[in-house]
Amino acid sequence: MSAAISLCPFCGGEAALHKVSTEHQAGTLHNYFIVACKVCGVQTERFKSTIYQEDNGTVVIASNGADAAVAAWNSRPSEPDPEETSDEED
Ligand SMILES: [Zn+2]
Repeated sequence: MSAAISLCPFCGGEAALHKVSTEHQAGTLHNYFIVACKVCGVQTERFKSTIYQEDNGTVVIASNGADAAVAAWNSRPSEPDPEETSDEED
Protein backbone atom coordinates (compact mmCIF):
# COMPACT_ATOMS: atom_id res chain seq x y z
CA MET A 1 0.00 0.00 0.00
CA SER A 2 1.69 3.17 -1.16
CA ALA A 3 -0.68 5.84 0.09
CA ALA A 4 -2.86 6.29 3.13
CA ILE A 5 -6.60 6.29 2.48
CA SER A 6 -8.43 9.31 3.84
CA LEU A 7 -11.53 9.03 5.98
CA CYS A 8 -14.86 9.24 4.16
CA PRO A 9 -15.67 12.88 3.26
CA PHE A 10 -19.37 12.18 3.68
CA CYS A 11 -19.63 10.31 6.97
CA GLY A 12 -16.08 10.31 8.37
CA GLY A 13 -15.96 6.53 8.28
CA GLU A 14 -12.96 4.36 7.49
CA ALA A 15 -12.50 3.51 3.82
CA ALA A 16 -10.66 0.59 2.21
CA LEU A 17 -9.21 -0.42 -1.12
CA HIS A 18 -10.88 -3.35 -2.91
CA LYS A 19 -9.83 -5.34 -5.97
CA VAL A 20 -13.18 -5.86 -7.63
CA SER A 21 -12.23 -7.87 -10.70
CA THR A 22 -9.32 -9.31 -12.66
CA GLU A 23 -8.97 -9.93 -16.38
CA HIS A 24 -6.26 -11.63 -18.44
CA GLN A 25 -5.85 -10.49 -22.01
CA ALA A 26 -3.02 -11.55 -24.35
CA GLY A 27 -0.49 -11.94 -21.58
CA THR A 28 -1.54 -8.73 -19.86
CA LEU A 29 -3.18 -8.68 -16.46
CA HIS A 30 -5.83 -6.10 -15.67
CA ASN A 31 -6.91 -5.60 -12.09
CA TYR A 32 -9.75 -3.24 -11.23
CA PHE A 33 -9.75 -1.34 -7.96
CA ILE A 34 -12.17 0.85 -6.05
CA VAL A 35 -12.02 2.58 -2.70
CA ALA A 36 -15.22 2.25 -0.69
CA CYS A 37 -16.38 3.56 2.68
CA LYS A 38 -16.97 0.76 5.18
CA VAL A 39 -19.73 2.78 6.87
CA CYS A 40 -21.92 4.49 4.26
CA GLY A 41 -20.78 2.51 1.22
CA VAL A 42 -19.95 5.44 -1.06
CA GLN A 43 -17.25 4.41 -3.52
CA THR A 44 -15.06 5.60 -6.36
CA GLU A 45 -15.37 4.49 -9.94
CA ARG A 46 -13.24 1.50 -10.97
CA PHE A 47 -9.58 2.14 -11.81
CA LYS A 48 -7.64 -0.33 -13.94
CA SER A 49 -4.16 -1.69 -13.35
CA THR A 50 -2.27 -2.91 -16.41
CA ILE A 51 0.56 -5.33 -15.67
CA TYR A 52 2.66 -7.38 -18.07
CA GLN A 53 6.09 -9.01 -18.33
CA GLU A 54 8.57 -8.20 -21.07
CA ASP A 55 10.58 -10.84 -22.97
CA ASN A 56 13.64 -10.08 -20.80
CA GLY A 57 11.65 -10.87 -17.68
CA THR A 58 11.03 -7.32 -16.54
CA VAL A 59 7.62 -6.94 -14.93
CA VAL A 60 5.99 -3.71 -16.06
CA ILE A 61 3.20 -2.01 -14.17
CA ALA A 62 1.94 0.22 -16.96
CA SER A 63 -0.75 1.69 -14.76
CA ASN A 64 -1.56 1.18 -11.10
CA GLY A 65 -5.30 1.24 -10.51
CA ALA A 66 -4.84 0.81 -6.78
CA ASP A 67 -2.86 4.04 -6.51
CA ALA A 68 -5.28 5.78 -8.88
CA ALA A 69 -8.31 4.72 -6.84
CA VAL A 70 -6.70 5.91 -3.60
CA ALA A 71 -5.68 9.21 -5.23
CA ALA A 72 -9.20 9.74 -6.55
CA TRP A 73 -10.72 8.95 -3.17
CA ASN A 74 -8.33 11.26 -1.32
CA SER A 75 -9.02 14.14 -3.72
CA ARG A 76 -12.79 13.78 -3.54
CA PRO A 77 -14.20 17.11 -2.35
CA SER A 78 -16.44 17.11 0.67
CA GLU A 79 -19.99 17.93 -0.30
CA PRO A 80 -22.59 19.10 2.17
CA ASP A 81 -25.44 16.76 2.89
CA PRO A 82 -28.45 18.15 0.94
CA GLU A 83 -30.72 17.41 3.85
CA GLU A 84 -28.67 19.68 6.09
CA THR A 85 -28.73 22.66 3.74
CA SER A 86 -32.47 22.66 3.00
CA ASP A 87 -33.23 24.97 5.93
CA GLU A 88 -31.10 27.81 4.52
CA GLU A 89 -33.73 28.93 2.00
CA ASP A 90 -35.47 31.42 4.32
ZN1 LIG B 1 -18.87 7.09 4.42
